[in-house]
Amino acid sequence: MNTDLKLDHKDTQMRIAEAHRLCAAVTATNKSLIVDPSSKNASLLTKAGYITQIGAGLYTLMPLGLRVLNRIENIVRSEMNSSGASEFLSPVIHPKEVWSTTGRWETVDVLFKLNSHSGAELCLAATAEEVITNIAKGLIRSYRDLPLATYQIQSKCRDELRPRAGLLRGREFRMKDLYSFHLDSTELERYYEQVCTAYQRIFARCGIGHRTVRTFASGGVFSQFSDEFQLLSDSGEDTIFLSDDGKVAINAEVAKDAVALEAAFGGAKMKLTECRAIEVGNTFKLGTRFTDAFDLKVINPQGQLQSVLMCCYGIGTTRLVGAIAEVCSDELGLVWPEQVAPYDAHLITLGVNDSAVDELKYKTIKALTGSGVSVLIDDRSDVRAGEKFHDADLIGIPKQVIIGKHASESRVEFKKRGVKQADIVDLERLQGIFRP
Ligand code: ATP
Ligand code: MG
Repeated sequence: MNTDLKLDHKDTQMRIAEAHRLCAAVTATNKSLIVDPSSKNASLLTKAGYITQIGAGLYTLMPLGLRVLNRIENIVRSEMNSSGASEFLSPVIHPKEVWSTTGRWETVDVLFKLNSHSGAELCLAATAEEVITNIAKGLIRSYRDLPLATYQIQSKCRDELRPRAGLLRGREFRMKDLYSFHLDSTELERYYEQVCTAYQRIFARCGIGHRTVRTFASGGVFSQFSDEFQLLSDSGEDTIFLSDDGKVAINAEVAKDAVALEAAFGGAKMKLTECRAIEVGNTFKLGTRFTDAFDLKVINPQGQLQSVLMCCYGIGTTRLVGAIAEVCSDELGLVWPEQVAPYDAHLITLGVNDSAVDELKYKTIKALTGSGVSVLIDDRSDVRAGEKFHDADLIGIPKQVIIGKHASESRVEFKKRGVKQADIVDLERLQGIFRP
């Protein structure tokens, strides 16, 4: 016996605390409840215990769901920080006055409006251009204060006409919203492209880069086009036309326009394929639409007062959880990309009241958590092997470790989700698989 891995009682308690047990407190897979059977992400995520619905477009993220969201948001955060943006957090309740400044109090039809008992009129944050421009007005005085880029990851609320498709269109959802302010259009274009590149890195790091396409779309207030980042998926609401090489796309709403086609494909005749897609992010050049409304001007290097240019950039982080679930699954359940899986390892033990199994379980947990691997343990004593395997496939953690009939003193079974064949490996080799 390898004495290094020998465990005393205190040690085992500590190791168990570092990993998490599959039990009601962490997750309860729910085979009977299918809330929205027409939505793949809603039914998969509900059955596997990631979310529960409490109303139309309103979901609680259960511990597993929150872990996926946190991993996605940390990827988004690290790429935003690398793009030179600093993080802020604004309130979810906004006074009517800031929205009235741009006239959007009347025109944004999805605003949730509230009345305070003091008589004040308020709304819930649907987006934050008004709030951040109001703040920027206090920060930016001269051209030396530009460019300025700042973002938040915050809950947004929209009274959507048809909240649907699980996490894809909620009435409350999480969004990363970045805003940038510029002195001139050259600097704006440079930063805008830098953010679009960061977006592509974000989707690649979330494991969906190969099927997310930058897409020409209408709707820039200032520019002729905006950009959408569209995840190819049959369950998407949007229709896009994709180029042969899969690198450029145009939203069907703008594709009828010859100018748009010219801008997207540079006049080259291309075979385009019609696809359905989920908008996971978008970027807009806003020009002076918001800054003029708040009278945000600076003294330029020539000593003249000039308007400030602005862009905004969104990513729906809860929509991403749902969108990844839509495209990363098979007939048995979810198959998370490693980078966003709720845990690195799903450990299943078989055999009840078996001290050898318990000993090996603790040694395995020690070996994994000790090298920074997060572990979900299924050592339920009242559940049969078949059900444990079924739940593990449903939950979709990409690497499974099994302590069962093929296990010996320090050897366990290792299996990838979606692959039938398991390998027998010793604990040292197991550590290498998780942390090569
Ligand atoms: P859509 O076209 O899907 O209605 P939008 O163009 O109104 O979205 P923005 O206001 O720019 O989107 O929001 C930025 C991002 O927030 C979107 O790209 C999307 O990923 C996400 N998002 C928008 N609305 C919702 C919603 N109701 N539920 C979940 N995510 C959303
Ligand atoms: Mg849109």
